[in-house]
Amino acid sequence: MTSPDLISPVHEAPHAASAPPIFQTASFLFDSYAQIADVFAGRSDRLVYSRGDNPTVSELEGLIARLEGTEAARGFSSGMAAICGAVLPFVEAGDRIVAVEHLYSDAYRLFETVLRRFGVETVYVDGTDTQAVIDALPGAKLLYLESPTSWTFRLQNLQPIAAQARRHGVLSVIDNSWATPVFQRPAELGIDLVVHAASKYLSGHSDTLAGLVAGPKELIARIDGEATHLYGGRMSPMDAFLVLRGMRTLELRMRAHMQSGLAVARALAVDPRVTAVHHPGLSHPAPKELSGFGGLFAFDLAESVDAERFCDALRVVRLGVSWGGPESLVVPGQAACGLAGAANSFRRFGVSPRTVRLAVGLEPVEALLGDLAHALERAEAVAA
Ligand SMILES: *Cc1c(COP(=O)(O)O)cnc(C)c1O
Repeated sequence: MTSPDLISPVHEAPHAASAPPIFQTASFLFDSYAQIADVFAGRSDRLVYSRGDNPTVSELEGLIARLEGTEAARGFSSGMAAICGAVLPFVEAGDRIVAVEHLYSDAYRLFETVLRRFGVETVYVDGTDTQAVIDALPGAKLLYLESPTSWTFRLQNLQPIAAQARRHGVLSVIDNSWATPVFQRPAELGIDLVVHAASKYLSGHSDTLAGLVAGPKELIARIDGEATHLYGGRMSPMDAFLVLRGMRTLELRMRAHMQSGLAVARALAVDPRVTAVHHPGLSHPAPKELSGFGGLFAFDLAESVDAERFCDALRVVRLGVSWGGPESLVVPGQAACGLAGAANSFRRFGVSPRTVRLAVGLEPVEALLGDLAHALERAEAVAA
């Protein structure tokens, strides 16, 4: 089942089309000098140019705002463009950002390279230590959360953290790509801006790059004044259409990812060739912010299992970055730790080379369990 919210269009489509039209246009025409002058003077909200607003993109922005429970949203050309849009307009030289450890590796690189070069310092805190996060807030400009975190899948206690951020005048931003609004609505817990890598679960078909930021009108207007118009990494109408199409099955897919993900995580947790499973759904008591779980998690291979042999023995699960599509994918931590560059979050926060990240897709769960068991067997037999 899927809620009508996800199925019916936000706006009435021309000709009562049941799917949203793709307004594949760069600009919009005016009938008169008076009309264009009115727009430039801010007296009219007619559409002008798709780097500002485009009806297909607006349709998706309306939908994500409704699902996240925010007043407004803006679409970007990728999750990283959305992160830039949610962070850069709000900081200046001399400011301090507080971020959680184990955040998405390219967000870390953004903070440690570009922002540092422009005089913005980022400090990192253990997000599972609520008091440590709160203690770091006084004097900070922005708090950057990701719950769960990448690779380690650690949660933050969002409500008290959001309340304290507000008390100290710190703008709170969260990457909600993993849970999606189906399982977690951070704005309802007091978080200011919610970021999505829509390339993942929201689009859901591994066929597009897109990003979104949802939040109150006033903050979205500040993002608009800078990120959408001046950085220019705006979502295209075609990508907005693809994300809209994916979102029609978002709830169905999320439930399937959750069920299969939990089944695979539980099987790995009792396998002697696996020493740890990092999945928020296996912790007790169940986390209260989340009403369900994404299918992306990680596990640690025992010393006796060769990571390279394991990856090469997989047949159903494929090797590849990204996640959120129908196909199951693994990324070996051993390879990710080798990522070139000084700003390396894997080395900084200590992801184990024995960790493997697994995105559980939509294949029959028996096929995945069989494939993983077979690969573990092959990798251990050779290592022994
Ligand atoms: C992939 C990812 C991003 C970046 O999204 P892109 O669309 O690839 O730019 C941001 N956050 C998380 C948690 C991700 O996994």
